[in-house]
Amino acid sequence: MAKSKRGKALKRDGYGRGTCPVCHRPRVKLGWEVKKGTTKIKVCKICNAHILNSKETVS
Ligand SMILES: [Zn+2]
Repeated sequence: MAKSKRGKALKRDGYGRGTCPVCHRPRVKLGWEVKKGTTKIKVCKICNAHILNSKETVS
């Protein structure tokens, strides 16, 4: 299984670092897509885990 969220893979397909739209922390790794309505947004690992656990909603 490829390590799609680590190493050089992050520099392809628009993945990389930025400010997470959920927690607003800068320079976090945004490699996880979540659905926001009809669109997808990229969030950090921590917010993705929260969303999957339904502890936090995307706003
Ligand atoms: Zn976040």
